[in-house]
Amino acid sequence: MALLTKAIKGTQDVLPTDSVRWQYVERTLMNTAALYSFKEMRTPVFEHTELFNRSVGDTTDVVQKEMYTFNDNGGRSISLRPEGTAGAVRAFLEHGLHNEAMPQKISYITSCYRYEKPQAGRLREFHQFGVECFGAASPSADAEVISLAAAAFDALGVKGLTLEINSIGCPECRAKYQQALREYFEAHASELCDTCRDRLGRNPMRILDCKSPVCHAIAAEAPVVLDYICDDCRAHFDGVKAHLDAIGIEYKVNPTIVRGLDYYTRTVFEFVSTYIGAQATVCGGGRYDGLVAQMGGPQVPALGFAIGLERLLMVMQAQGCRFPGTEPCTVYIAPMGERAALTAAKLCAQLRAEGFTAETDIVGRGLKAQMKYADKIGAQYTVVLGDNELDSGRAMLKCMATGEQSEITLPDGLITAIYDRKIDAALGELTDSIEQSSFDSDK
Ligand code: ATP
Ligand code: MG
Repeated sequence: MALLTKAIKGTQDVLPTDSVRWQYVERTLMNTAALYSFKEMRTPVFEHTELFNRSVGDTTDVVQKEMYTFNDNGGRSISLRPEGTAGAVRAFLEHGLHNEAMPQKISYITSCYRYEKPQAGRLREFHQFGVECFGAASPSADAEVISLAAAAFDALGVKGLTLEINSIGCPECRAKYQQALREYFEAHASELCDTCRDRLGRNPMRILDCKSPVCHAIAAEAPVVLDYICDDCRAHFDGVKAHLDAIGIEYKVNPTIVRGLDYYTRTVFEFVSTYIGAQATVCGGGRYDGLVAQMGGPQVPALGFAIGLERLLMVMQAQGCRFPGTEPCTVYIAPMGERAALTAAKLCAQLRAEGFTAETDIVGRGLKAQMKYADKIGAQYTVVLGDNELDSGRAMLKCMATGEQSEITLPDGLITAIYDRKIDAALGELTDSIEQSSFDSDK
């Protein structure tokens, strides 16, 4: 078999056997966001390139090296979104949401595109669940947004993530810090990697993020941002910590977190896992009080985070987190012959209209092969339809798990019987879970 082409490097297909996991994770994340009144926003996959140049920042690796940028047929420079915040801020302003009641709380699940070296947990097309909270300057907003991420991980049963927080100050205090950093790194300029020597002039904080062991070792001795932040920024940071303490969220202050995008101010944070190797940051976020104004809007404080879904799924798989199974087919109707096939099609349509999963033969298989298929797809019940059944209006409903058979009348008896069995199963599950919870509380 010679394939015409293959998927683009750094992209992943989600196959039918895996999509149930994605759906579960996405649903749980969006439901958790909804508990905090975050509402979904959807923005286009591509934007004018200048949006990202101006917001993510000209000096960032993302804009300099990682964007998928092209000219469209009208000669406009277009980029695939490398992250979700820029588009969310653009839409927030374009639709005048800053005139609505504040705070405005927004959530999204988006695909993102970055031309990076593909490896485990680092793809060229990846997915983010993100939230943005506009119009709240107080430390309680930072704590609420962080607690939403923590609650989302809890809801999914993810354990062992470390929350690391830092403050990178406001533009005023950061200027002093950058000056101190520049002086420190200039003294080590000859030892730095080429990229970092380049960063020295433009954005020395980025050197703290460098993955090269030599730069990393030099960065370890560098001045620490928390020693430079002004009184207001320090009071804000203390407020965030007090709120996290009050909610009962554990954190570690890590003064080396600076984040890779230019727009952050004050609080920055990451949730880091020890389960998935080098690409350990599952969630990254922070405050960006200057971004909305920088994009031509009023002064609106804001903050948000993004969780990388591929990395989140990797952590969940590595930890053996529980996922729901694929919903099995409820009824498989096996017709023998043309006349029965018409009745089977009609019965399937009726079952589906009632909300039950139903299948029948669309391949033209004999009875034996059909039953094998029904078994393979995990059909809970089967009905065989032949001339006898059609003439008598009666058929046998077989429970595949127990082998038990019961006679039903066609067509209404089938739907009634399925309803009865579903209700019995639901009641059984309810009784089990009540018994289980009273057993748990007895312990
Ligand atoms: P890293 O330091 O790992 O490159 P980043 O700082 O570039 O991450 P952000 O821009 O903050 O990441 O994006 C938020 C989250 O999106 C990350 O914490 C990660 O989970 C995920 N993410 C970022 N880049 C990729 C990628 N290329 N492939 C898969 N997930 C990614
Ligand atoms: Mg990156």
